[in-house]
Amino acid sequence: MLVNLKEILDPARAGGYAVGHFNVLSMVMARGVLEAAEELGKPVIIGIEEKQLSICPLEDFSFFAIPMAKRAKVPVAVHFDHAYTFDKCIEALKYGFTSVNYDCSDCSFDDNAWRVAELVHTAHAYGASVEAQLGFVPEAADVKDGRIDPATFTKPEDAELFAGRTNADALGIAAGTAHGEYLFRPKVDYARIKAISEATGLPLVLHGGSGLSDRALRRAIESGVSKINIFTDINIAGAQGATMALGAGKNLLTDIIPYEVHAIRVQAAEKIRLLCG
Ligand SMILES: [Zn+2]
Repeated sequence: MLVNLKEILDPARAGGYAVGHFNVLSMVMARGVLEAAEELGKPVIIGIEEKQLSICPLEDFSFFAIPMAKRAKVPVAVHFDHAYTFDKCIEALKYGFTSVNYDCSDCSFDDNAWRVAELVHTAHAYGASVEAQLGFVPEAADVKDGRIDPATFTKPEDAELFAGRTNADALGIAAGTAHGEYLFRPKVDYARIKAISEATGLPLVLHGGSGLSDRALRRAIESGVSKINIFTDINIAGAQGATMALGAGKNLLTDIIPYEVHAIRVQAAEKIRLLCG
């Protein structure tokens, strides 16, 4: 069933578990993730981010993702991730997305708060939710010497003020993770996550969840994270599924696709089982 982000994350925060967010750029990827969630009877979030729209345009995504979410036997939010403009967010809401991450993290604190507050007002009128972004989550490939500058992390006192000024439904934070494939061992600042959780009372979102150890994911949840974004792990799994199919002598796409769906389903199920307990 299609629900908004708040409907999925508020129970997660109260129950001390996290919901997996998986970007899915095709019906094949969406099927793998939704089959995993249904198999386990757990909620899930499927999405796409603005930088990925060259692979799958926003409207095309909405044509398969929203009907698939509606038909699912578990709660599913359909999320537009890292949207950089108000207009793009509105476009997603008009297509029926139930959640948007409006990423104004490169703006000043005041600009970010003002922009998010404006979108929250509109998104709520659509029955959708808004995830805001405070603090900078880098690309793993851009991190030099395996060290992310803690000055770029979300500050608990800023987050408290930000939550009050924006009325956002969830908050994406920066606390030591990075997007993409880690070439270094990430150091997550759990004490910071806990302090932000206590200061804001909001469900927190950890970007860059792929490649984190099971222990790190569990500790992040114990510290107050209610949504974990995972893309690279299923991106790799899907490609490995295709490689396996080719290795087995399959040379038709119709024979390769089931391998991809299966590989994504197995990987997503492993993560969902871990996050939802
Ligand atoms: Zn992200």
